[in-house]
Amino acid sequence: MTIHAHLGSSVARSRLNSRVVGPFDTELAPIAATDDELRGYLVDAELPPLLPALAYATGDVALLRDELRPDRALVTMPQGGLDQEQQDKIRDLAFESLVRFRDDGSRAAPPPSEDLLLQLMEHTVGGSDMSPYLPLLEEELSYRGEDRRAPTWRKDDIAPDLDFKVAIIGAGMSGLLAAHRLRQAGVPFVILEKDADVGGTWLENSYPGCRVDNPNHNYSYAFAQRHDWPYHFSTQDVLLEYFKRCAETFGVLPHVRFNTEVVSASWDDNSATWTLQVRSNDRPETLVVNAVISAVGQLNQPKYPTDIDGFGAFEGPTFHSARWRHDVDLTGRRVAVIGTGASAIQFIPEIADDAGELVIFQRTPPWLAPTPEYHAEVPEGQRWLYRHLPSYSEFNRFAIFWKMGDGALAGVRVDPSYPPRKNAVSAANDMLRTLLEGYLQVQFADRPDLLEAVVPNYPPGAKRMLRDNGVWPATLRRSNVKLITIGIDAITPSGIRTTDGVHHDADVLIYGTGFHASSFLTPMQVTGRAGMDLHEHWGGEARAYLGITIPGFPNFFCLYGPNTNIVINGSIVYFSECGVRYILACIGLLLGEGGHALEVRKDIHDEFNERVDAENRAMAWGWSDVNSWYKNASGRVSQNWPFTLLEYWQQTRAPDPDSYELS
Ligand code: NAP
Repeated sequence: MTIHAHLGSSVARSRLNSRVVGPFDTELAPIAATDDELRGYLVDAELPPLLPALAYATGDVALLRDELRPDRALVTMPQGGLDQEQQDKIRDLAFESLVRFRDDGSRAAPPPSEDLLLQLMEHTVGGSDMSPYLPLLEEELSYRGEDRRAPTWRKDDIAPDLDFKVAIIGAGMSGLLAAHRLRQAGVPFVILEKDADVGGTWLENSYPGCRVDNPNHNYSYAFAQRHDWPYHFSTQDVLLEYFKRCAETFGVLPHVRFNTEVVSASWDDNSATWTLQVRSNDRPETLVVNAVISAVGQLNQPKYPTDIDGFGAFEGPTFHSARWRHDVDLTGRRVAVIGTGASAIQFIPEIADDAGELVIFQRTPPWLAPTPEYHAEVPEGQRWLYRHLPSYSEFNRFAIFWKMGDGALAGVRVDPSYPPRKNAVSAANDMLRTLLEGYLQVQFADRPDLLEAVVPNYPPGAKRMLRDNGVWPATLRRSNVKLITIGIDAITPSGIRTTDGVHHDADVLIYGTGFHASSFLTPMQVTGRAGMDLHEHWGGEARAYLGITIPGFPNFFCLYGPNTNIVINGSIVYFSECGVRYILACIGLLLGEGGHALEVRKDIHDEFNERVDAENRAMAWGWSDVNSWYKNASGRVSQNWPFTLLEYWQQTRAPDPDSYELS
């Protein structure tokens, strides 16, 4: 049944074109492919979003057949868990529909009603009762080619005579976004960036093999989508280019002061301003602004294993993954690596070819999420679909958003009625563990020694799960690679001694030992009302309201602040987009009311944090006592958002004026 009357071609064409809203060309092209070519493209298609996208484009809801809906319980599996017969049927139906769409001049139907949109979304992920997601998804997916998170006000209109300037600290993914929004609102700002270029983590981490572990269709600004990502999981250079291109297109580059590190920020109640002491190209300088947005990230202070005896004694070249020494030639050398986290598991396979010997010191094995397409290019057929089928890109993004976010949350939540065990927190979590363990058993079938060393003894979700396409197991099996699971006793001038007394000689020592993630906003000194030092105030327990505002620190906003990290692979770009909108709305509130200082109420902040703590304790990462950077020294989960992604969006749409004191 066709529910939309088809529009005339000029109107339809303008709707196709209306998607050109970001720095990248996402203009849709009319279909000129032959039948054979269409069949070929469909071989590459990601299937769960295909029929919903076609129903969206054509208005033909008969495509949404119940028997071709993914099963909600299996939606995180490849092709949404659809079996071969279902996959074949979807391709056949899609082929017929694409032929009709092509023969009809690629004329898209008008946007669907909300009811139909809901139906399309639920079909994509096999879900039901998803109406709370509807407004989020309409916005997130920019269905009508709009940037719905842009500020709806301009300073000239609400506070034309007020001098107001914002300092953004950091020109990474979050800082650039904040700058873009402030520019759209006409609020003067400066970005202070310690590095010599934009990009933040994607600039600093240049180690071999560095790439994002969240699919790029999800790990990208909603309003700056690309249809031509080269890889599903882009490499560092591709991401750095993406953020540079965004910065140029947003027009924020002239506002960035590079090589400028903020040393301290102090609030002055009388003038309602922040005074920043900065070191700019090694010269001290003072800046005064009305508000500060910290966009410094959580993972940029390398953590060296200073707790290991003899740290610093090693006489050969030594460096951290985030400070990669590209001048050190590893060819034929004996290389020791400490750590098997997300960074190490990416660079170790890349250097294993060159190194003469590679000794890996693993303290805790990671769970591996099988991801066959991890290093693969986006296949031609999928790129073709992004380019030609209206909304296919958006439905695919939504499918990723769901299966790597809220759709996976139940699998890592503690079931209080489940008998306590070390390596599972619920029946669903145990099923996941069995699947993941099965993958390891297959990969190491002929190496029981390695299998024993790589099977984790903690629940999936308690630490970050790492992606694997078989490359990590293949690396561990190499004859020049040794995996050591015996604890490190000491670092010596010529290598590493383990607690069994064995000395492992090395020429180069590399630390894949992570970051000081719990030390938010260090090494900056931040002083709020009445001389309150932020780090003393926190006492090692960083907290903020929604990860953004802190009582006693007016007009100070954090992005990727406390409790805004996600474990099961939602996109941190999404969090930044929500956070930036909230901050802009706070600034709009302040300016619109003619106020000077906006400060979150302590009771609101405290009550929020109690809820966060309780919920984090009910998640695998809060329940388990395994080491992780998600917890601070006292064991509190200071990093993670334990609720749904939807809830963060709902809570950050706009500030409730009653939650703030305005002066
Ligand atoms: P990490 O996950 O904290 O891993 C650090 C590794 O070093 C762990 O294996 C840890 O062992 C080990 N380690 C630390 N101190 C040690 C010590 N004193 N003795 C022995 N072993 C020690 O750090 P990371 O790998 O840099 O990753 C951090 C986060 O950055 C990731 O979780 C992820 O969020 C992000 N990241 C993302 C990507 C991506 O998107 N592709 C890539 C890299 C990083 P334990 O496990 O026992 O603590």
